This record gives sequence, C-alpha cells and structure tokens, in this order.
Amino acid sequence: MPGFDFASWPPTLSKVQLEELTVYATSYALSHGLLYLPPVLPLPTVPSAAIHAPLALFPSPIPRRLFEKAQKLQRIYNILYSRVALDEAFLDKVMGAEHGVGKVDDFTGQLWRGWKALRDEGINQLQHLGIFRSDYLLHSLEDQEPALKQVEFNTISSSFGTLSQRVSELHRYLHKATSYYNVSPHLRPDRFPPNKTIAGVASGLAAAHAAYSSSKDTRILVVTQDNERNVFDQRWLEYELLDKHSIRMVRQTLTQLGRTGRVDPATRKLYIDVPTDLEPAGFVEVSVVYFRAAYTPADFPTPAHYTTRFLLERSTAIKCPSLPLQLAGGKKVQEVLGQAGMLEKFLADGKKYSQVFSSEEIQELRSSFMGMWGLDVGEDMLLPDVEAAKSGKESFGVRKAREEAKSLVLKPQREGGGNNVYKEDIPAFLDTLPPQEREAWIAMQLIVTPANVGNYLIRAGSVSGSSESQTPVRTDVISELGIFGWSLFGDDGGDSKVEEDTVGWLVRTKGTESNEGGVATGFSVLDSILLV
Ligand code: ADP
Ligand code: MG
Ligand code: MG
Repeated sequence: MPGFDFASWPPTLSKVQLEELTVYATSYALSHGLLYLPPVLPLPTVPSAAIHAPLALFPSPIPRRLFEKAQKLQRIYNILYSRVALDEAFLDKVMGAEHGVGKVDDFTGQLWRGWKALRDEGINQLQHLGIFRSDYLLHSLEDQEPALKQVEFNTISSSFGTLSQRVSELHRYLHKATSYYNVSPHLRPDRFPPNKTIAGVASGLAAAHAAYSSSKDTRILVVTQDNERNVFDQRWLEYELLDKHSIRMVRQTLTQLGRTGRVDPATRKLYIDVPTDLEPAGFVEVSVVYFRAAYTPADFPTPAHYTTRFLLERSTAIKCPSLPLQLAGGKKVQEVLGQAGMLEKFLADGKKYSQVFSSEEIQELRSSFMGMWGLDVGEDMLLPDVEAAKSGKESFGVRKAREEAKSLVLKPQREGGGNNVYKEDIPAFLDTLPPQEREAWIAMQLIVTPANVGNYLIRAGSVSGSSESQTPVRTDVISELGIFGWSLFGDDGGDSKVEEDTVGWLVRTKGTESNEGGVATGFSVLDSILLV
C-alpha cells in the first residue's frame, strides 16, 4: 500500500492488552521450540532448561514490492556468488594472501593458504553447497518511497532461518488468538507472507546429500561452535531432514573433529568416529559438511583447528560452504562486485556462461547496492593509492572516509556481528589503523532507515523465572530483512550449471540506539513481516 505511515507503527495497546499478549507470545515460544539455551557457561553436556528467544510482539512493516524484489533478486545472487566461488583467479586477486586482502588480514590469509595448498594437491570434490542469506534494510530518504538496499551477503553459517519461521507462526497465532485486539486494520493474515524456511534450507542440504552419490548410509555433519546456545535453530533442520528426507545429522565441534575425523587416503572419503554408533568401528561416512562454525578466528584457538578445517575440505564430502565459497562472502568481494563492469563479468559473459542476465536484471541488482570503497584506494577509487604509500600520507580512501564519516560504516573481513566501526567513531579509529591494514577494510555508505517506526520488544527469557515484570516497552526500531537461498554447483569445465532455489526469509529487529544487529550477539530480536 503506497503511503503506509511507518511512524504510526506499532498500534497502541493498553497495559493490560500488552501484558496478556506477552503471556500468549512467550508461552507459544516456549511450547513451539522458539528457544535458546540459557546463558550459563560452560553449557551442560545434557541440556535440561531453555529460555525463549528475544521477540518482537508485532510483525514489522515491509512494502510488498520490496519484499517481492528481494525474493526475485535472490536467484541472481545465488548464481552470482556461485560463479565468484568458482573463479579462482578473481578470488586470488581479491582475497588471496599473495595479492589480495589475505596479505594483511591473518584470518582471510589462513583460509586462502589452506585452499591454495589443497588446489596444488588436487581438489577431491568439485561440487559446492551454499546456504545463503542476503540481508537488506529499507533506505528511506525524505520525500521518497523506501528502497531496498543490501547490507551484506552471507555465504557461511547463515542462521535463524528456522526460528524465523517459528516467529512468523507466532505472529499468525497471536492474530488467531486475539485478533491483536483489533488495534490496527493493517493486521490481516493476508499481509503475513508464508514462511517455509525450515523445509527450504533442509531441501538444499538434502540436494547436496543426494548429489554425493554413495550407496552407503551417509550422514550430514554439522560443525558447531563450542558453547553454542542457538542449538534449537539447528535442531529444527535435523528433525526436518530426518522426517522428510530420512537423512541423519551428526553434530561435532572442530575440536572434536580433530580427534574423530579421518580422510581415507585411497578414496578421500570423510569418516567420523561417532562413539555411540553401531557402525563397524563406530565410523560413519559424511556426505555433506554443514558449517555453523569456522567463520570467525575465535573458532580456531589453535593451529590444529585449521588443520582440521583443511582435513574436512580435502575430503570428498560436499562442503557448505567450501573454502572458496566462504572467501566469496568477504565484505571485500561485496565491494569489488560494486565496481564498474564486475556484475557484467559474472552475469553477462555469454562466452563463459550458458545462462546470462539482461542489463535490466543487472541494473535491478545493482540498485540494491550502497556505495562502497576500499580504504587503501587512490583517487580512481579502484587501485591502491601508491603516491600516498610512498609519501607516508593518508590514502585518498582514508581521507574520503574521514570527510564522510557521519554517513559511513567501516567493515573488516569478519562475520558474526560486533566488528564494524560507525560514524563518529571513524576518525579516531582511522588515527590508529596501521597503513598496511587499510586494505582489509571497506567503507560503506549508511543505509537510512524509516524514522520513528516502533515495536514492542520482548527480551530473551531468563532461567531464574524472576517475578520482575517482563511487559515490553515500545522502542524505536530498525528491521533487517534476510532472504535465504541455496545453490549447489560445481566446476564442469568453465561453464557451471547451478542448481539453486530461493527458500525463505527472516526479519531481525533492533532498537535504533544500537548500530549493530545480530540476535546472537544480543543486539536484536526475531521478528516477521507485515506486508504494506
Ligand atoms: P556481519 O557479517 O558481522 O553481520 P554486517 O555487514 O551485517 O556484518 O553488519 C552488522 C550490522 O551493522 C548489520 O546487521 C546492520 O545492522 C549494521 N549495518 C551494516 N552495514 C550497514 C549500512 N550500510 N547501513 C546501516 N547499517 C549497517
Ligand atoms: Mg550481518
Ligand atoms: Mg555476515
């Protein structure tokens, strides 16, 4: 509906209504697995208590045309990032440890060197699986209709797909149970888009499992983090795979896999020791390695953890993601894809690819980008500022970031939230950034979200069951839309056939006082969509 007044959201509830709705919401969350393990570390081996996830009481308004646009773009993004992952020369140049960001960013360099060593040895699995999440905010300049702008594209450990489906179901339920007390004419079930993310993400894993042709009873391995509290988001996928696809999942951390993982020297198949299993010698064969860890240096406390990561990569199991696909998700790649001609290189080259995209489609994709540049660049905004490097002066990219700091965010090559530098913090940060590290950072224009949109945010539950009132208060918010897609692809001699799908969505909503999002990091809550 054009002209939806974002500032009128959410409708007003009385205190009594709010309290009652909150009881409905938290009870539903607790009884439908919209849960987290409590923050009591170290986590017990056998969990016996859970708390509900942080939640928004109302769905958040998103214009229907932008939701549809985001879903339409996902197919192109799935193919784009698959092709980037297959372009070794491109990744060497942008992310490599000899020519790219890997020179100055240790974590990127480690991953790239591990990948390079395996390439020299010969890759044993040419297929890759990506489970992606493309994240967007509404960009809302004064007097203009909001536009869709991409925050980032995640190629590893894209999480909250399954809990997001549960929140959509929660908001539907609240409507069924209470009609939201008829406080808004906008709250109608036909404005709540369906959310089938659990089946969708599982279908990607199942497609890769099927592509790993093996007659044996193979398993999907989920590589998890130590002390992971977001286990239910992962378990729902396990249950879906069992129920709908008869595929078993096993969960192990990189630390465990250092002891339990073996690659058969002859066949290069991956086996892991599952002590409780009835298989001969307790070893089971792995079809797909699904990483819900290994995206941050903290997941690699010792060099042995890298060795284990590369052992998994060396095997014939299909990796989700492979090392090149993980590298393709770097913020630097996102910035380079915004440079002139780059989208055309990957999407419009009819000599290289059997499937190409029209200039209209490419333009539509490009219209979702914000301006970005590398901090090391010179005045052409592309190549390193050699003059500045010689004279010891600041690069053009850094000077521009200082001048425009108020409308910028700086990002390193990291995932998982909490790594960026915003607005007024930028100049002081630039004062301390060693010149050689500039290359590892990108500057990105800030997306300006609609002002004065609110919601009632319910904080995560507590185990103590304290009697303190949990009634939420209205908070000004920013909602980030994520679209899930998957892609199964392999190098079949230049042109690559990509099997892909667009499979669901999530909304994370945060108070405007926080620059960062991230449900896991405690900045935001899970939410769903009201189409307007
Ligand atoms: P990460 O991979 O750590 O999640 P993101 O690029 O998603 O990194 O940045 C984290 C958060 O910072 C986002 O969820 C969003 O809330 C905020 N953010 C990132 N880029 C922008 C931007 N260009 N404009 C406004 N907010 C942004
Ligand atoms: Mg993010
Ligand atoms: Mg990310």
